[in-house]
Amino acid sequence: MDLSPLALSVVVPMYNEEAVLPLLVARLRPVLDGLDLAAGYEVVCVDDGSTDLTAAVLERLRREWPEVRVVRLRMNAGHQAALSAGLAAARGDRVVSIDADLQDPPEVIPEMLAVADEQDADVVYGVRNDRSTDTWFKRTTATAFYWVIGRLTQGSARSQSGDFRLMSRALVDAVNGLPEPGRVIRFAVPALGFPSAAVEYRRERRGAGKAKYGLFDMVHLSLDSITGVSTAPLRVATFVGFFGGMLAVVAGVTSVVAHLVDRTMPGWTSTVAIVSGFSALQLLSLGILGEYIGRTYQYLQNRPTYVVDRDSYLEGLEAEEAAPTAVAATKTDEPTGRSQRPRTFLSS
Ligand code: UDP
Ligand code: MG
Repeated sequence: MDLSPLALSVVVPMYNEEAVLPLLVARLRPVLDGLDLAAGYEVVCVDDGSTDLTAAVLERLRREWPEVRVVRLRMNAGHQAALSAGLAAARGDRVVSIDADLQDPPEVIPEMLAVADEQDADVVYGVRNDRSTDTWFKRTTATAFYWVIGRLTQGSARSQSGDFRLMSRALVDAVNGLPEPGRVIRFAVPALGFPSAAVEYRRERRGAGKAKYGLFDMVHLSLDSITGVSTAPLRVATFVGFFGGMLAVVAGVTSVVAHLVDRTMPGWTSTVAIVSGFSALQLLSLGILGEYIGRTYQYLQNRPTYVVDRDSYLEGLEAEEAAPTAVAATKTDEPTGRSQRPRTFLSS
């Protein structure tokens, strides 16, 4: 097995994608083989604790396509964590992350590489110029989500750019070094400020199988994204509390004066309205606070975002160590800058 750095790693997080895998291979392999990379490439398939036949399909695939590398997580850790696992494992000089379901067309990869060369960019975002294949609900919520994020990050995050992107080794190392748990890679990357470029593409329909993101997952991702990119919501809570307090003072003074002048009995309706209104605001502020405290707590717990169960590349290395004679020459002949073994366990 070759220990020198590869030209390209393609990281594909997958969870129960047995149906789409053959279609993915049929489209991805010709593209990657066609690149004719002298230093070679790898396809890092991160099996995010799939419970269907994904693992078996990957094993078969690995025999047919030697560039396939399987990194299996012990249990389902979620799309972003699986992506983190893939980025940590990747050996390539450049890394492309892509969804398994063919919503991101693999044919765009050569264009990304060309743009990275031409513009000397560390990151080339895949930007969706057409989401007509997504449902109305997904499109509308996504637009609202990117609008909020855009406001919070003063536009540094690119709208309509998901997790289809090319990254340089330097950028991947920087992302791997980020300590935050629950990080949302697509917003962590622009925040690092590396030179960027973009390639537009049309978001396709899912090749096969079902979407893994339910409404609940989308809410989770949104909250992680917002608390990850900005603490502005905390300030919103403060401002709302401040203006709410002023309103309460005005309302209090008005009612006392009204009572003294008109001798009116204060109404039940206004009391209920004010009490419930302020309770709602308080709960909202508490909730926002809780989000950040939760994140801080997770950070302190320092539990790993994911745990790698097995990595076919490392298993290959171990097999070589057990029988060193066959490959000893290639190992010593090629001392490389990055030939040390990747960590099998990343506590991030
Ligand atoms: N995915 C994953 N772990 C999960 C959920 C999803 O690795 O817990 C993968 C999934 O297999 C796919 C990518 O993340 O390759 C995007 O998921 P999906 O297509 O379901 O999301 P959507 O396109 O609806 O945003
Ligand atoms: Mg999808």
